[in-house]
Amino acid sequence: MSEALELTPRDAWNHALLESAHPPGWQNPQPAARYDLVVLGGGTAGLVSAIVSVGLGARVALVEQALLGGDCLNTGCVPSKTLIRSARAAADARAATQLGVRAGAVEVDFVAVMERVRRVRAEIAPHDSAQRFAGLGVDVFLGHGRFTGPDALEVGGATLRFKRAVIATGGRPAPPPIPGLADAAAKLVVRNAFFFGRRRAADLIIPWCTYTDPEVAHVGLSAREAEARRIAIDTFQAPLAANDRARADGDGEGFLKVHVKKGSDRIAGATLVARHAGEGIAPIAMAMAGGIGLGRLVDLILPYPTQTELVKNVAGAYTRTRLTPFAARVLRALIRLAR
Ligand SMILES: Cc1cc2nc3c(=O)[nH]c(=O)nc-3n(C[C@H](O)[C@H](O)[C@H](O)COP(=O)(O)OP(=O)(O)OC[C@H]3O[C@@H](n4cnc5c(N)ncnc54)[C@H](O)[C@@H]3O)c2cc1C
Repeated sequence: MSEALELTPRDAWNHALLESAHPPGWQNPQPAARYDLVVLGGGTAGLVSAIVSVGLGARVALVEQALLGGDCLNTGCVPSKTLIRSARAAADARAATQLGVRAGAVEVDFVAVMERVRRVRAEIAPHDSAQRFAGLGVDVFLGHGRFTGPDALEVGGATLRFKRAVIATGGRPAPPPIPGLADAAAKLVVRNAFFFGRRRAADLIIPWCTYTDPEVAHVGLSAREAEARRIAIDTFQAPLAANDRARADGDGEGFLKVHVKKGSDRIAGATLVARHAGEGIAPIAMAMAGGIGLGRLVDLILPYPTQTELVKNVAGAYTRTRLTPFAARVLRALIRLAR
């Protein structure tokens, strides 16, 4: 039986979290003769490596010493965004008079805020749970894992033999981490491990977001990076204040800036500063991943009014630069003929 973990406070939500992320009384399975892949560490990177590999038909063992879900579920992404939501609600309530709403004195009940953090964490935990991964065919071992040879790892007194291993034991504070890289890098590791791939993490398009208010989201190259790599770019920009929905929402602070490779509409990078920039950067990231140029985004039909329309504003700024004086004269002549 695996070692039990204690979480404080001992409330219903932490109990539910443990039931998923480190079930008390969990029985480690009988190890297979040899695994195609042993994954050490059950955080985002380890879970993604395990689930992708087992989906490909590999025999997989996953080893986690503490809570499945790692930092992201238990102390990082999920708790911090849940906490930020409460902070935002308090800030919105305080700013409500600017929108013509009198909400009265705002009081933050920190105990209730933290209980909600634990509830949300516990509600999401089944997705990363030992039961779910076991059900998908992954052999889940709870306990401290230790390599004892080039093809052997020991956990809870059992020895797991393997052909390949992924070490996904997380990091310590060091150079700035790139959020989202863990998940993306895990898929790359599996692809390289099983399909003789040689792709590097540097080849991936990885958007990131800083969850301030307004949020700052970015994808691809910044102007400074483009300059350092001697990549010539043109930059197109639109302020959020020009967007009808942003004005209605009272979110006029921000902008979208898109860099294209000089002389083309190929998107090299983009920065969005907006209240929900993490959501709003998605169309640009998709366009980059799909090789869709900025010029084509001008034809997008979007619901009105939405903040995503800012993408069309920037695309429009690009297409206007394509209109040479000659093309403009031809266009005017065509319009006259059509009257
Ligand atoms: C406050 C905060 C907020 C964050 N917000 C975001 C965000 O909004 N978006 C985002 O994308 N990222 C965010 N991150 C970063 C994100 O949490 C990490 O990128 C991610 O958790 C890394 O996953 P990982 O699997 O590499 O490592 P980890 O999550 O650290 O997982 C490693 C796992 O390995 C286990 N382990 C280690 N050694 C052993 C061993 N010997 N045997 C068995 N198990 C072992 C550990 O117990 C742990 O569970 C945030 C981080 C923090 C701290």
